[in-house]
Amino acid sequence: MTRFVMALDQGTTSSRAILFERDGGIAAEDSHEFPQHFPKPGWVEHDPLEIWESQLRAARGALAKARVEADEVAAIGITNQRETTVVWDRATGDPIHRAIVWQSRQTATICDELRSRGLEDEVRKRTGLVIDAYFSATKIRFILDAVDGAQQRAERGELAFGTIDSWLLYKLTGGRVHATEPSNASRTLIYNIHEHDWDDLLLGELGIPRAMLPEVRDSSGNFGVAGSEWLGAEIPIAGIAGDQQAALFGQGCTKPGLAKNTYGTGCFLLMNTGEDAHVSSSGLITTISSSGLITTIAWSIGGRVEYALEGSVFVAGAAIQWLRDGIGLIEHARDSEASAQSVTDTGGVYLVPAFVGLGAPYWDERARGAIVGITRGTTRDHIVRAALESIAYQTRDVVECVRADSGLELDVLRVDGGAAENDFLMQFQADILGARVERPPVLEVTALGAALLAGLGVGFWSDRAELESVGEGAQLFEPKLDTDRREALYASWKRAVERSRNWEEV
Ligand code: ADP
Repeated sequence: MTRFVMALDQGTTSSRAILFERDGGIAAEDSHEFPQHFPKPGWVEHDPLEIWESQLRAARGALAKARVEADEVAAIGITNQRETTVVWDRATGDPIHRAIVWQSRQTATICDELRSRGLEDEVRKRTGLVIDAYFSATKIRFILDAVDGAQQRAERGELAFGTIDSWLLYKLTGGRVHATEPSNASRTLIYNIHEHDWDDLLLGELGIPRAMLPEVRDSSGNFGVAGSEWLGAEIPIAGIAGDQQAALFGQGCTKPGLAKNTYGTGCFLLMNTGEDAHVSSSGLITTISSSGLITTIAWSIGGRVEYALEGSVFVAGAAIQWLRDGIGLIEHARDSEASAQSVTDTGGVYLVPAFVGLGAPYWDERARGAIVGITRGTTRDHIVRAALESIAYQTRDVVECVRADSGLELDVLRVDGGAAENDFLMQFQADILGARVERPPVLEVTALGAALLAGLGVGFWSDRAELESVGEGAQLFEPKLDTDRREALYASWKRAVERSRNWEEV
């Protein structure tokens, strides 16, 4: 009888493996960091073999720590850093270039060229995305240009492209399976999220041969088996999703209107919008909102595709890092909580952490950070509190966009990520949204999501209803502020944001 599902959580800086029990509890975990390569300013690359080796080490480590044999593992689920691009030789399984990481800006000029050809609207309509170096397609183009003869080899079907999920799947199955699923495919800029296929027009514009692309399967189901040479026995691979979508699934946001926010360096907020790619308030199906949110595929289960709206905040936990490392107001990130609680409010101080400009709904690259409302009575604690509050205000800004674009109310926000441990922040978030905030007992929701997709794929869990009980016991933060006070605070935040805008001179 199998007792566990293993999640492989391949992140930007480390590869982790977690063994989940049937009740969602964690039996063991292991993780290993791997090197980051910065060949030029703004470029970020990973060695795909270092990713694979660190991931394999973590998987073996988790089994060893739990003293579990591979034949007790029902399935493997994979979740991964999204968009990062690998191209490898099908014959040898060797990469032909380092992986180009999602953060890397090295394809900005390819993006400029696509824009100059007037492709922005087509890209939006077909993929739900904006033309940006962040997504995979221009990274594929870069590798095909950078390596001699690669274009011809790709056309002959000798090369394979994959996001990190495909790459790990290819390695685990000994080269037998070259596949991905829609949550990852929808981040490539060449996947048509309405037709559920690679998009011939965009492939043509980018000169990317179909012969190098993975097959797109359901997110939960059969992806082949990991060979016994890796973990000691064959294990079915039965679930895959990109990290943010896996977190959405792990949080149980499986119905339209349910949303999660991950509070890390930045924030990633995703709301399930159901089987519609997103119906705008005018009733027309559009793929991108006027506020610049992205439409993405959440997952595909049993052939049924669900979508999500995604918005991000660039600087969230990073504002707390800045308090600690930049100006030394606190010693540890968690000290921010006691500091904020030691005062009843910010004394009218607002901190706008527009360190790298502002995203949705402002889209102002020239905004810069500001602290306003300082008086003779302002103390360190007021500023720390204002920094924490800014995370909640920025989240409300994104929630306002999501509400407007989806026409769905947001009554509950499920939370995870490092800064979600901060009780003050979670209470203030509930207050400023006027919505309940729910924090699950296990914050490892990304890995849990991948495990759930895999466990569902092999019948370890029988259906979604059974999954609802996994991870029960969330901590609730109920909104306590009255409406007038909440809206007055938020209105002042908007005024503070205005002070930070359009600052950097061109
Ligand atoms: P990432 O995955 O982006 O590296 P994590 O989910 O590990 O982020 O969260 C780390 C971030 O959360 C850091 O930016 C840190 O400043 C912030 N953080 C961690 N603990 C707290 C806390 N108790 N209160 C506020 N912020 C915190």
